[in-house]
Amino acid sequence: MTQKHRQPEVNIGLVGHVDHGKTTLVESLSGEWTDQHSEEMKRGISIRLGYADATFRECPGLDAPERYTVEETCPDGSESEHLRTVSFVDAPGHETLMATMLSGAAIMDGAVLVVAANEPVPRAQTEEHLMALDIIGIENIVIAQNKIDLVDREQAVENHEQIRSFVEGTVAESAPIVPISAQRDVNVDLLIETIEEEIPTPERDPDADARMQVARSFDINRPGTTHEDLVGGVIGGSLTQGRLEADEGIEIKPGREVEEGGQSEYRPVETTVRSLQAGGEFVDSVSPGGLLGVGTGLDPSLTKGDALAGQVAGPPGSLPPTRESFVMDVELLERVVGEDADEIEPISTGEPLMLTVGTATTVGSVTSARDEECEVRLKRPVCAPGGAKIAINRRVGARWRLIGVGTLR
Ligand code: GDP
Ligand code: MG
Repeated sequence: MTQKHRQPEVNIGLVGHVDHGKTTLVESLSGEWTDQHSEEMKRGISIRLGYADATFRECPGLDAPERYTVEETCPDGSESEHLRTVSFVDAPGHETLMATMLSGAAIMDGAVLVVAANEPVPRAQTEEHLMALDIIGIENIVIAQNKIDLVDREQAVENHEQIRSFVEGTVAESAPIVPISAQRDVNVDLLIETIEEEIPTPERDPDADARMQVARSFDINRPGTTHEDLVGGVIGGSLTQGRLEADEGIEIKPGREVEEGGQSEYRPVETTVRSLQAGGEFVDSVSPGGLLGVGTGLDPSLTKGDALAGQVAGPPGSLPPTRESFVMDVELLERVVGEDADEIEPISTGEPLMLTVGTATTVGSVTSARDEECEVRLKRPVCAPGGAKIAINRRVGARWRLIGVGTLR
C-alpha cells in the first residue's frame, strides 16, 4: 500500500537569486502531489512563502544515484520504497522580499542554495541569502548548480570554480555542489541522494513542550457566513519542537493588542486546538516538520489578515517572555551585500532597524548603541528566548539591507 500522505519530517529551504530555478526545482521534486492543503491553506501560506511537500523514494534494485527518485514506480515496473517526506520552503528571491526569506529561515532545518550556471557568481540575492543562512545558523546546505543544459562543459567547470571560491569562508564552505538541470530533470536523482546525506532530519526531544512558529494567520470564513457556521481563527506555521494534539489548550504570545486608557499593550491569548492539518490532511497530532494549519477556538477577527504572524504558540505557561524592548549583542557585516557593497557604519542611537526574530519581523528604534551591543524599543513586541538570533536590517536607499546579526541577551 502506498502512503501518500505522510507528514514531512524536515523543512528544507530553497534559496538563491530570482530566476535561478528554485520554483522549477521544487516542482520537479514534489511530483504530482504538490501542496495538498485545502484552498484556504494554500492561498494562505503560498503567497508569502511557496511551499510543497515531496517524498523521496528509492528503487532497491538500482545503484546510486539512479536508485533515488520521486516516482512511485521504478523503471522495471516494481514499486519504489519510501525514504523520507520533506517539506520545501521556497523563499522568494526578489530583493524586496528579503524579510520574508529571513522569517522563512526560522523554520528551515537545512537549505538548497540554487545557483544558475549561466550567470556570473554571485548575484545579489545569492550572496544575501547565503549570508542569511549564516546568520540564522543553518549549516546543512547543498548547492544546486542549475541550468547546466545552457552551458558547455568548460563554462560549467568555470562556474563551479566561481561558486567554490564564493562560498569559501562561509557556512557553505564544505557544501557539495551538484550540477543539475531542474527543467530537463538532469541529475535530480544525485541531488536527492546528496540531500539525504547532507540534510538529515534533526534529532528531536519527544518530551519538549510544543513550540510553533506562526508564519501566517487567517479567517477562513466566507463573507456572510451565519453565526452557527463560523469556524474559529486559523494559524499556519511550523513546529520547531514537541508535539501538538487536537483538543489541547494552547497559548499564543505576544497575543493581541489591548487598548486601555490611551495605553496599548499585548496580552497573551489562550485557546484550544480544534483541528490540525498537516501533510495535506486532517490529523490528531503533529510533530515537527512541514507546515501546519491549526484551527483554533479564537474569534476569527483575531487571526484575520496575518494578525498573528510572527507569534509563537505552545502549552500555556511554557513560552518565552514577550519583549517590548531588548538588548542585543551585535556583530555587523563588513559591507552591505550586493553590487554597491558600501561599508557598514556603526549603529547609531535613534535610528530605525528592521529586525527578524524567529518568524517575526518588526521595526525597532535604537535607544542606545555602543560598540558591540545595542538596545532597541520595538513597535510590535516579540516572543523570544534569550540567545535568539536576530537578523538586523538597515534602510539603505529605498530598501532594507541586511547589515548584521544580533544575539538577544
Ligand atoms: P526562481 O525565481 O528561482 O523560482 O526561478 P524559476 O523556477 O521560476 O525559473 C526561472 C526561469 O528559469 C523559468 O523560465 C524556468 O523555466 C527556467 N529554468 C529553471 N530551471 C531551468 C533549467 O534547469 N534549465 C533551463 N534552461 N531553464 C531553467
Ligand atoms: Mg520562484
